[in-house]
Amino acid sequence: LGMTLGEVLAAHTRAHPDLPYLRVDGVDHTYAELWARSGSVATALARRGLRRGDRVTTWLPNGIEWVVSALALARLGVVNVLTNSRFRSREVGALVARSGSRGMITEFAPDGDFAAELGDSSALEWTVAINTDWADLTATQPADDEVTAAASGLTPQDTLYVIYTSGTTGLSKGSMTRQGPALKNAFNSGVRMGFTDDDRLLCFLPMSHTFGAVNAFLNTFTHGARLDLERDFEPKVVLDAISDRGVTAIFGVPTHYTMLVSEYRSAGGTHDVSTLTKGCIAGGVIAPELSEALESELTITGLTQAYGMTESTALISQARWDDPIEVRIGTTGKAMPDVQVRLVDGETGAEVAVGRPGDILIGGFGVHAGYLGMDRDPSMRDDGWWSTGDIGSLDEAGNLTILGRSKDMYKTSGFNVYPAEVEAFLVRHPSIAEAAIVGIPHPIKSETGVAFLIPSPGCTIDEADVHAFARSGMAGYKVPDHFLVVEDFPRSSATLKIQKHELRAQAIDQLA
Ligand code: ATP
Ligand code: MG
Repeated sequence: LGMTLGEVLAAHTRAHPDLPYLRVDGVDHTYAELWARSGSVATALARRGLRRGDRVTTWLPNGIEWVVSALALARLGVVNVLTNSRFRSREVGALVARSGSRGMITEFAPDGDFAAELGDSSALEWTVAINTDWADLTATQPADDEVTAAASGLTPQDTLYVIYTSGTTGLSKGSMTRQGPALKNAFNSGVRMGFTDDDRLLCFLPMSHTFGAVNAFLNTFTHGARLDLERDFEPKVVLDAISDRGVTAIFGVPTHYTMLVSEYRSAGGTHDVSTLTKGCIAGGVIAPELSEALESELTITGLTQAYGMTESTALISQARWDDPIEVRIGTTGKAMPDVQVRLVDGETGAEVAVGRPGDILIGGFGVHAGYLGMDRDPSMRDDGWWSTGDIGSLDEAGNLTILGRSKDMYKTSGFNVYPAEVEAFLVRHPSIAEAAIVGIPHPIKSETGVAFLIPSPGCTIDEADVHAFARSGMAGYKVPDHFLVVEDFPRSSATLKIQKHELRAQAIDQLA
């Protein structure tokens, strides 16, 4: 698949022009229409002087404009700087300035904060407002020769997107994702899930992040499957869409699935979800209760766990749809084709034995092209391996299990504690809905664990009881010294990830 996005779109348009690839806001869009519309927009942008390698910021919610812009920019070889649609003017202004974008396409009206962040020296020349200017762009007569000329020299190695990481561990960084690797990774992920052109994926993930922009979008695109795009995640809408439209696949982070299960239960388990046989769960550690509920209640029989990140051009590993459940959801499966994975000891750097925890290093063409605006990629090692910052273990067969982030691991009285393991145990307690554990400095033990707990609906958490429960199932050093009950955790807005750096600061604040 050494192809560009434009080449794949052209091939689809030739082979099945009338196939409705995309469904959004209740309207179907065929390949022929997407080819023509993206051609119009690309032609109009080429006439504004855009050339291959330039950058344009898109500040759009999930919708037809997002897809058409993405296809048009990819055909021009223009780098699409994705921004979270929840961002405010101030945040977007800073990204536009930092990314050196020449243009911006947006559905939102930037306010004074935007101009203030942008300053006088930014490269921004124009803004296309969806409400007013978009119609002119899409009405432009497509001139494929002008598009080809503007894209002159385009190869699959060109940057497709700049995608900002979730910011779970601090400030988010703009990772450069290339066209060919993105298409190839998405195609291979579809193979792991047994995708065919009969599949229909319902995507409620934000298209501003890798999981939506690479996995959901390009997975269906490379397999000739259908993509139903939702603006937001509404558990009820998702369940209704599955029973009404025969959706066969969904992708989400564990929190999405937890919310789906609870919606399914509160609706009395009446939704017919029998068509849903494929899907992907990634982005965080999965509690055993959740995987049981997914299998036996929601009956998603072929759900696969995957492991990936922005900087790896989507997935590093993914289980296969026909693996046994212990592998399919219990691990993240084997490394993707063309991705190399090594696990090394954090201190000695030596390869770890089967079953032992180690720092995850990756190699291969999927490793991103670096961070925009940073000369040096701090995670790229001198030996060419890229350090993920995550800890995992490999079984005999080569299936990778993620134990958490190395930043989250803490050392107490000389022992390593992996919060993910302790969290997974604590949520087995009936009064605990979610648990998040951080390590904070301790004068004697070096570090100590603090557990933040969200009670199950209608329950109160009894600290002594939870403590005894923890002691009964885990070595003493793993049991957190403090339990703090909260209503919710601080989460990143787009990917719903728990922001442990904030919890850590909160714990130090409260317990100091
Ligand atoms: P930042 O890099 O800005 O701190 P982030 O790492 O959360 O944010 P993403 O690139 O969106 O940004 O997320 C990738 C991370 O998600 C991985 O490094 C890993 O820690 C976590 N992750 C992904 N898949 C899994 C999984 N299956 N199990 C556990 N954790 C996972
Ligand atoms: Mg990261």
